[in-house]
Amino acid sequence: MNKQYETVIGLEVHVELATKTKIFCSCQTTFGGAPNTHTCPVCAGMPGSLPVLNKQVVEYALAVGLAANCKIHQHCKFDRKNYFYPDNPQNYQISQLYLPICYDGGIEIETENGKKTIGIHEIHMEEDAGKLIHDEWEDCSLVDYNRSGVPLIEIVSEPDMRSAEEVIAYLEKLRLIIQYLGASDCKLQEGSMRADVNLSVREAGTAKLGTRTEMKNLNSFKAIARAVEGERARQIELLEEGKKVIQETRRWDDNKEYSYPMRSKEDAQDYRYFPDPDLMPIVISDEWIQKIKEAQPELRTEKLLRYKKEFDIPDYDAGILTSSKKLADLFEAATAICNKPKKVSNWLMVETLRLLKEKNREPEDLTFSPENLAKLVELADAGTINSSVAKEVFEHVFEEDADPVQYVEAHGLKTVNDEGALRSAITDIVAANPQSVTDYKNGKEKAIGFLVGQTMKAMKGKADPGTVNKILKEILSENPL
Ligand SMILES: [Zn+2]
Repeated sequence: MNKQYETVIGLEVHVELATKTKIFCSCQTTFGGAPNTHTCPVCAGMPGSLPVLNKQVVEYALAVGLAANCKIHQHCKFDRKNYFYPDNPQNYQISQLYLPICYDGGIEIETENGKKTIGIHEIHMEEDAGKLIHDEWEDCSLVDYNRSGVPLIEIVSEPDMRSAEEVIAYLEKLRLIIQYLGASDCKLQEGSMRADVNLSVREAGTAKLGTRTEMKNLNSFKAIARAVEGERARQIELLEEGKKVIQETRRWDDNKEYSYPMRSKEDAQDYRYFPDPDLMPIVISDEWIQKIKEAQPELRTEKLLRYKKEFDIPDYDAGILTSSKKLADLFEAATAICNKPKKVSNWLMVETLRLLKEKNREPEDLTFSPENLAKLVELADAGTINSSVAKEVFEHVFEEDADPVQYVEAHGLKTVNDEGALRSAITDIVAANPQSVTDYKNGKEKAIGFLVGQTMKAMKGKADPGTVNKILKEILSENPL
């Protein structure tokens, strides 16, 4: 391959908003539930039913738009996107084409190559479709409308990304902003955040964009990165063979690491958009925007600075803790209880992240309470339990939100501070291991480690290793060979 190619990538990201009810009716939005139990005539598309806009949807869309430096269409409206598919009971989706609520913004990303701004073309509000369930019964498909009418925002970027690394950096930044705003939990696995990748390649140095394809069915950051690499390679191969890339929608199969054509890509005119006659245009006043701006919670950059100042923790800690809203919330709440920021930070950065990695979970999946984390910090700090017992207890806090005080009590894990008991255990160990005693006296410092280990074992791990070491040295110095 002699030619150099450049990859041009734009993303369409759908995010399910965290409203309690749907966008145009009062049905609940909770994930799951028995099929078709969260439905009513509006979200089941019954003729004659009328949509009523949920104000919270507009406020979340505004909050995300303002945080992503967008301009606001203060006079915006909804349009009907017409298409037939069984998961779409009205035969049209209520969306925004002509006047999306937010437009012309951008967010800054940082990769190994430095900082870069990714433009945001627009953010529009729309309703989600239902879900088709195939293969449940032999000869038919089933449809569940629980998701129909769940509010979405679609964030359309400019084609400003050039690599999988930039795509992931953009998605991570976007997800963090939205999570901090509380507008969505952005879980890719559950589909509350979904990314479609528009990708084309062109010869480096040319200005004209190549023909793009759109890839769907991407449910993890890793799958997105692989899809970008795979599709780039496929398109370059076509061009090298003198063939053309066809504009189409493709489905990425992450197991086979290959994309398959789904349908030819439609343009806006294929959907016969027109303004929805059932919904009034939305007027967004300057006061309303001001109110949203004032209510905007602290975002990561501000939090980062405050953590260093308020809690006096290192940059490294602050960076990790603020990389997830969940970790930051746990940190602040637990610190407010026990007032030991560095200790709380250590438990979150070391043991929590280790267990998350081991169990292949995200920080957003954490379920333990800050109260129990704070109790554990107190117990370990007061020396009531030693550090290896603390780790053991923490695993139960992590898994089942166990109350550390009760757990330590119930399992008899308190450190034995009774010098008499320790002394007698150590005397027995010394008597039973004459060889180690001789080794130690002959200058083998390491032999003492073995004796400490034996004592800890005899005390079922419930002694303080420092105290054991101290008493052991005393006994050995008293003990003639
Ligand atoms: Zn409904």
